[in-house]
Amino acid sequence: MNLKAKKKWGQNFLVDSTIRERIVQQANINPETLVIEIGPGQGSITTLMVDHVAHLLAYEIDPDLARVLKGQYQSYKKVEIIEGDFLIRDVKQDIKNVKTPYKSIKVVANLPYYITTPIITKLMLELDNIDELIIMVQYEVALRLTASVKDSDYSALSVITQYYSEPEFLFKVPPQAFRPQPKVESAVIKLIRLNKRLVPSNLESEWLEFIRFAFQQPRKTLVNNLTKAYNLTKDDVGETLVSLGLSLTSRADSLRIETLVKIFDIIRLKMI
Ligand code: SAM
Repeated sequence: MNLKAKKKWGQNFLVDSTIRERIVQQANINPETLVIEIGPGQGSITTLMVDHVAHLLAYEIDPDLARVLKGQYQSYKKVEIIEGDFLIRDVKQDIKNVKTPYKSIKVVANLPYYITTPIITKLMLELDNIDELIIMVQYEVALRLTASVKDSDYSALSVITQYYSEPEFLFKVPPQAFRPQPKVESAVIKLIRLNKRLVPSNLESEWLEFIRFAFQQPRKTLVNNLTKAYNLTKDDVGETLVSLGLSLTSRADSLRIETLVKIFDIIRLKMI
């Protein structure tokens, strides 16, 4: 395939065959896996998977690439090239429409970096039946997604991702592995979905909002961030922290998810 890469869609094609193989190896797919690929591009990873899956749903926004891929996989009944924007597509319905039996669902993708966060958010929040994600992202984002509490990269994105999944940093990828070469380094990570949830599903959107508020100004204390966001007094928030044995100067980036959930529970009751 010899189409010019389109910058607006984050097209950096993976040309290093060793890296492609390592990604697919890490995905550990088999004929009982339903694979979702976001942005198959010129099919560099797709090609390595098509013969080993139960079914493959590949979403490509670029009509030129989608047309070529459709031609290429015309005779493969288990490969569906879906032209369009993954972010607005009803992927849940696409999964429901798959007739082939499968035992697990995995996302395998070299993501378009300009929409990494919305893609991961959609995968985590809307598509709760996905078991694992093996994804290439920008190196800095990989650090944030896999950061532990007190790491300098620990952020709202780390908490949200780790609320839904257990992350694993797999390996770093240099710009030379792509054409055209991106200006940034990349990394492949794995996110394994957790079945246990610390917050009941009816409170999930409030909890996610709480996390965004808690990290809104990361250098500020929780007392400052939460007082402002919830229109509470400093004493209200302060009492909550003290009742949990925490310092009044605690910041969100020093607290584990379990502790943040406890604070959320108390603040929520204060708001009723
Ligand atoms: N998988 C290919 C590879 O590794 O060589 C291409 C990866 S490239 C980084 C990202 C791909 O995502 C491009 O093919 C791009 O057209 C596609 N893409 C960008 N935005 C998209 C969206 N919203 N929905 C679906 N595909 C998208």
